[in-house]
Amino acid sequence: MKVARFSQGDEVRFGVLDGPELVVLKGHPIVNGYEPSGERVPLKEVKLLAPSIPSKIVCVGKNYLAHIAEMGHGSVGSEPTIFLKPSSSIVGPGDNIFLPAQSQQVELEVELALVIGALTRNVSPEDALQYVWGFTVANDVTARDLQASDDQWARSKSFDSFCPIGPWLETEFIPEDQMIESRINGEVVQSSTIDQMIFTVPQIVSYISHNMTLLPGDVIITGTPAGITKINSGDIIECEVEGVGTLINQVA
Ligand code: MG
Repeated sequence: MKVARFSQGDEVRFGVLDGPELVVLKGHPIVNGYEPSGERVPLKEVKLLAPSIPSKIVCVGKNYLAHIAEMGHGSVGSEPTIFLKPSSSIVGPGDNIFLPAQSQQVELEVELALVIGALTRNVSPEDALQYVWGFTVANDVTARDLQASDDQWARSKSFDSFCPIGPWLETEFIPEDQMIESRINGEVVQSSTIDQMIFTVPQIVSYISHNMTLLPGDVIITGTPAGITKINSGDIIECEVEGVGTLINQVA
């Protein structure tokens, strides 16, 4: 089931994709379940929004071997490398990615993202997927020059619009060997499969939940494959995970 958060006029609501239409839901599906309101709206008449506004975005770095190699980061750690992006960096499908004046080297990073559906603390890898509400696609936009020059990654990862997510949430996705890909103006720059991740989704959720409490709506992004590439004003960026969807943004 694909669950979209959308606006129509001033109203923000959730709906389930059904062909060219959305079956509008009552309230927030994490809180209210999937109760239809009785209304249907054509997909083309709404603006899709980021599927969640989280309290935090927890990010996994260095989770694909080929990306570790291209970054010159050396060996694989025994535990996931995690960092945070602020919720203010989130934008939705179709929104612009704005290049900040502080950076001359902004790059894209396609990532499988997930949204947490319940308070999650100290869960085992075996139980972890029960706490995932659904999966979406993220672009972990990064000011690569500032990542190199700053001691911490906070600034390079946190500019407004540096975390596009969407286009919706797929609640039935099971991470296996699905394709993950990014394209700039139609040209493929990153292409891999989910099974190339060093730490799996259950391991990641479990690990993070032992280090901080995850709240309903929180977003976890699971690392990027090789092929990170500079983006420029005017570029059309497509980030796709097979079985989830394609997130499209323009650079401004
Ligand atoms: Mg990343």
